[in-house]
Amino acid sequence: MSAIPRLLTAAFPFVVSGPSGVGKTELCTALLERLDASARSISATTRPQRPGEVDGESYFFYGSEQFAREREGTGMAEWAEVHGHLYGTPKAWLDAQLARGLTVVLNIDVQGGMKIRARYPEAVLVFLLPPSIEELERRLRGRQTDREEDIQRRLNRALNEMQMLDQYDYAVVNADRAAAVEELLSIARA
Ligand code: 5GP
Repeated sequence: MSAIPRLLTAAFPFVVSGPSGVGKTELCTALLERLDASARSISATTRPQRPGEVDGESYFFYGSEQFAREREGTGMAEWAEVHGHLYGTPKAWLDAQLARGLTVVLNIDVQGGMKIRARYPEAVLVFLLPPSIEELERRLRGRQTDREEDIQRRLNRALNEMQMLDQYDYAVVNADRAAAVEELLSIARA
């Protein structure tokens, strides 16, 4: 099948950012199941693999040298340091999916979101918010995958990240999961 000319399609990067623990991964998965012609961007990261994560599905888990090689070689559409680890979006794959006419959902941090906006003016940026900071803390603790100092670091970072809210196109509060998915769907379809 030949590529559909980009201007004739609704293809665009759909960036979903928000603090750790807000439910980005879960909501992105639910969105991708329901949104036609969509694909999930799989990031590369130097962070250690967590239990249950699959290399090449959750992330591409790279050592620092491999990450640097990829960044200099095939290139990253954006990359950022988050919680002391490097994360990046492989550019060739993103561009190929967009050229096929797919909406690509990127679960990335606010630094990455700003870089995608600069490089892909058609990108749509959504910021997910927790119902409250107390609820965010409760969700982070419930995850039990992080140490106490990591939880504190993530909470502090969440407060900082929320200051970037006005740079985003939309804000969605994840109080009720089904309602949040509906909101994401209507934004993506609009
Ligand atoms: P986690 O380590 O909890 O999976 O993700 C930590 C943070 O890194 C999340 O806010 C996530 O959105 C962000 N992140 C994941 N992949 C990328 C990426 O490719 N680029 C950027 N800039 N941030 C990413």
